[in-house]
Amino acid sequence: MVGNLVNYKSCINPIWCPGCGDFGVFAAMNKAFTDLGIDKNKLFIVSGIGCSSAVVHTFDNYGIHGLHGRVLPIASGVKLANQDLTVIGAGGDGDGFGIGMGHFIHTARRNIDFTYIVMDNQIYGLTTGQASPTSLKGAKTKSSPNGVIESPINPILTALSAGATYVARGFSGDPMHLAEMIKGGIAHKGFAFIDAISPCVTFNKTNTYDWFKQRMYKIDDKNHDPSNFRMAIDKALEFGESIEKMPIGLFYKKEQQTYEEQEIALKESTLFASPLPSHEMVIDRINENI
Ligand code: SF4
Repeated sequence: MVGNLVNYKSCINPIWCPGCGDFGVFAAMNKAFTDLGIDKNKLFIVSGIGCSSAVVHTFDNYGIHGLHGRVLPIASGVKLANQDLTVIGAGGDGDGFGIGMGHFIHTARRNIDFTYIVMDNQIYGLTTGQASPTSLKGAKTKSSPNGVIESPINPILTALSAGATYVARGFSGDPMHLAEMIKGGIAHKGFAFIDAISPCVTFNKTNTYDWFKQRMYKIDDKNHDPSNFRMAIDKALEFGESIEKMPIGLFYKKEQQTYEEQEIALKESTLFASPLPSHEMVIDRINENI
């Protein structure tokens, strides 16, 4: 097992602070890839900007360290260009739910077949501790010395309402469980979103591992049907207005045709395998439409 794990890790060691939750997410991703036996030559990771986005360098496969907030358009393009790839988007809550929020909603409703992992630490870590879109109301940070005034984004509720077809939450403090959530997302045909709670031990001294452990519980399959959208919404609301309980596990899963299965130019063949039209063909097509 250890030998297999080494295969996915690059020669670059993570640069995170000791104890950063992103180590647990990295371990969970590594385990998920190993358990699924993913061909690393067909594994493509796209990240944004932020501490967590450095994860792309820690794996020995193809990837792009993209622009701030642009994980999803890049990952969408990669998947639509080559549907044979296993595509993973990875970034932080500031990247994904701040500047990247428009992309999050539209990617969810398109249902393109890839997995998006957000390492959610409720703060901007790379820029040394400003309030992020998931910072809780009242959180005192460098940018909110008197406490955050706005209500936080609820990532699970947002993903559900936007149309994501696989929605889960995991915890970097429980990488085995998180790996199961990631495996489920990769195996799912469609857009899979995983809110990976990943404490920032340096700049978020409130939402610590212990803080989360006191509130987290695993969703029980006996009391929750992940095919039931209304049950998923109720479950998503459990952590929001109240912060006493935080469910982790699979909230929702739905089989639905992907974007690429319905797009006429893509459903016959993946884009990179399609022959390029000749110069003359392009000119003829333009002339036909003038
Ligand atoms: Fe992790 Fe926070 Fe350190 Fe960034 S600043 S590496 S998020 S602990």
